[in-house]
Amino acid sequence: MRRLMALVAALAVLAGLTGCGMEPADPDTAQESIQVIAMDTVMIFKIYGEKSTHAAYAAEDEVRRLEALLSRTDAGSQVSALNDAGGQPVTVDGEVLRLLNAAGLYSEVTGGAFDISIAPVVSAWGFTEDAYRVPGQTELDELLTHVGMEHVHAETADSAWLDEGTRIDLGGIAKGYVTDRIAEILEENGVPRATVSLGGNVLAWGDRPDGTPWLVGIQDPARPDMADGFAGYLSLKDAFAVTSGGYQRYFEENGKRYHHIIDPATGYPADSGLTSVTVVADCDREGNGGLPGQGTMCDALSTALFVMGEEKALEFWRTSGYDFDLVLVTADGRVVVTEGIADVFAPDEASGYSYETVS
Ligand code: ADP
Ligand code: MG
Repeated sequence: MRRLMALVAALAVLAGLTGCGMEPADPDTAQESIQVIAMDTVMIFKIYGEKSTHAAYAAEDEVRRLEALLSRTDAGSQVSALNDAGGQPVTVDGEVLRLLNAAGLYSEVTGGAFDISIAPVVSAWGFTEDAYRVPGQTELDELLTHVGMEHVHAETADSAWLDEGTRIDLGGIAKGYVTDRIAEILEENGVPRATVSLGGNVLAWGDRPDGTPWLVGIQDPARPDMADGFAGYLSLKDAFAVTSGGYQRYFEENGKRYHHIIDPATGYPADSGLTSVTVVADCDREGNGGLPGQGTMCDALSTALFVMGEEKALEFWRTSGYDFDLVLVTADGRVVVTEGIADVFAPDEASGYSYETVS
């Protein structure tokens, strides 16, 4: 049931992406539009141009390839090989090493708020196996001794290993990496415009056929399953927009809600006063200096800044040197937009939020 709600929610985001009744239908129809169910989400690719069909299916193949490589629940993946190796080195692809190193970097710069080695804790809460439970403090304390990027070793050219007891989960970064790879596929195929939605990870490629930007709806955490309710809208061209929120996956026990983004400092679901974080960054078409790129950055940062909370997230936005903007939705009913995207952000007047721009 929860899974189904997540699917409905993912489709609601797409409704925002395609205009959500705010403007007339696209003057051109997409030349290829496909839906892919993978990585625990619904993905929708709308691709224009002469090679749209080829590009759409190449993107689907790439999703399947990366899922088989990176999934924690696929026993044949390289991530599973690392998790099952009992502390021994494992031969892995250079691509996996680059992603592990990117994860290490985002962990370091966010003071450990982003941490792929949180995996055993995510499992203890039952999110990996769909067997939800509230773990005891003793259990969490023991598991947390294995959490921390110092237990993940990816320094050599062709192998990596995890300290015994440590496990990794790339769920907070993999879909962002997939969008980076899809951007490369769109570029290789000369695709002029496209929208790619992987649940909360959106790539707005080029502009709409009439030259206006794509409209991306930011899901309202308070009304996640209503196709007509959004926290706001972004008008985007050549940009990634990635949202993390506690409403995307959760369970309830004794009237309390527990969601899937864990604060590595406590082992508990992050409780920072935010209900969602959207990270927006340019997608540089001329090659972004290699992969992982901006899509990966947005995914890692959306998870990390959700853990960090409003104050630390804005501080990070101001001082980190990373080029991105933010839409934060707070539990006390505010939507906070950073000034770099203030001119492309539109509130949803029916939402009941108060809106602020910060610099
Ligand atoms: P989603 O994958 O639902 O779009 P996120 O990108 O925020 O959302 O990733 C959440 C997933 O990342 C969780 O399901 C879990 O697998 C993993 N995760 C949870 N907490 C963290 C964390 N603090 N750092 C890194 N990954 C995390
Ligand atoms: Mg993420």
